[in-house]
Amino acid sequence: MSTKYIFITGGVASSLGKGIISASLGKLLQARGYKITIQKFDPYINIDPGTLNPYEHGECYVTADGQETDLDLGHYERFTGIRTTRDNSVTTGRIYQSVIEGERRGDYLGKTIQVVPHITDEIKRRIRLNASKEPLDFVITEIGGTIGDIESQPFLEAIRQLRWELGKDAVNIHLTYVPYLAAAGELKTKPTQTSVKQLQGLGIQPEILVLRTEHDLSDELRAKVAHFCNVDVEAVIQSQDLPSIYQVPVNMLLQGLDAICLRKMGIEPGPAPALGEWRNYLERRERATEVVNIGLVGKYDLQDAYKSIRESLAHAGVYHDRKVKITFINSESIDEGNVAEKLSGMDGVVICPGFGHRGIDGKIAAAKYTRENNIPTFGICLGLQMMVIEFARNVLGYRDADSREMNGKSSHFVIDLMEEQKKITQMGGTMRLGEYVCRLREGSRAWEAYGRLDVTWERHRHRYEINNLYREEFESAGLKCVGVNTESDLVEIVEIPGHKWYIGTQFHPEYSSTVLKPHPLFMDFIKTCIS
Ligand code: GLN
Repeated sequence: MSTKYIFITGGVASSLGKGIISASLGKLLQARGYKITIQKFDPYINIDPGTLNPYEHGECYVTADGQETDLDLGHYERFTGIRTTRDNSVTTGRIYQSVIEGERRGDYLGKTIQVVPHITDEIKRRIRLNASKEPLDFVITEIGGTIGDIESQPFLEAIRQLRWELGKDAVNIHLTYVPYLAAAGELKTKPTQTSVKQLQGLGIQPEILVLRTEHDLSDELRAKVAHFCNVDVEAVIQSQDLPSIYQVPVNMLLQGLDAICLRKMGIEPGPAPALGEWRNYLERRERATEVVNIGLVGKYDLQDAYKSIRESLAHAGVYHDRKVKITFINSESIDEGNVAEKLSGMDGVVICPGFGHRGIDGKIAAAKYTRENNIPTFGICLGLQMMVIEFARNVLGYRDADSREMNGKSSHFVIDLMEEQKKITQMGGTMRLGEYVCRLREGSRAWEAYGRLDVTWERHRHRYEINNLYREEFESAGLKCVGVNTESDLVEIVEIPGHKWYIGTQFHPEYSSTVLKPHPLFMDFIKTCIS
């Protein structure tokens, strides 16, 4: 079978859940036995979201091969278990960068470089890139942004051309919003009609419409949308609010989104997939009503900022038949005086990743309090670094111990830059990114948590490291370096034996934790928080 392409665009408003629909459709096609990938094309100019503040764009997700990407890639991986790569996340910045590099090399032989065809050709090349590297049945491409954005235009033109070239091997899905006007007591389809008209004006006829709604849409309303938008009635799907995003694949299956997609591309769908394991997860989730309280100590008071950590905790909770109640605790509001009160009632505490000085004193105060009071604590990336600084200050007695990122004048940089990082002058894409191997120390808590594995591969996103000059001292004072990268001899995991659970990881386990395969450290952490 030749590779088939599914394009997903959005209209009317942003944040309608295009990423969830893309991930759900991917999940269903995969459950039918197809090999799939899902990719995101973002119209903004940044080369990648690595330099973006989380308030702009939520969490920055990292692929195994070290690309900093949009958080939707996290959904793709968590839903489907596929491993995305740098080719699954493309921005306008990267498109222009490669075209301009080509121009400088002289690839264009004296031609004037233009948006059409040069930028659009590069977009088309990248849309097909994943399928040129491995055999794939379906490539789902989500176009970021909303129809009508100026910067989306080249992407829409590229998918218009591709749809034409590919014929039956491609299908367009458009996601819109149907608002409910309480005063009129009515659901309104006009924004959807307008959005589809806008697409048609660009030469794109969506074959399937997914309507996001807070109320059930009547058959009559769907028929109306179909009629006005040149779409089959059965290809008007509703995506209503559900208690969990993980119910969306089942909801899409019930309405036949996958089957319609297949039929549009000339494939007889056959019986619906059972989704057994997935449904088991949902049922177990439903039954898990007893609560485990986890405090998230971080500085970004925004749901999306720690998306993967929140999801990883929730998944791990389900497998222990618990509902994880996450309480965000702003580290800027924590100090030595109020830390007990701020963390009271928490069964466990996660000290979050981050950059820069703001809020770190609160993280250090939290690390001290949970260490001294035997409260399960998981420090992730900057979280680990704060655990280490706290330990150096209060156990080793280096009162001004610090990270070079936070303070240029400490006499004890227990967190420091490695030599090769010191030479770097550019901020974007130059951190330690992606997967590195970590050797686990036999007998350690982490090693037990991993099911006594020798080594594990974990994803990174940081510039600073534990300073090896202090390793011996940490070890003898009781902070054990139980995970180490063997190639560079950098510390990956620290823990305090004897404490209920006090583990810090320099890497980000949340990036590789999926619904059906939760990360062992999250599993063990939640297990301890419950006991
Ligand atoms: N700011 C720290 C560093 O660069 C930690 C980064 C993070 O938490 N992702 O090393």
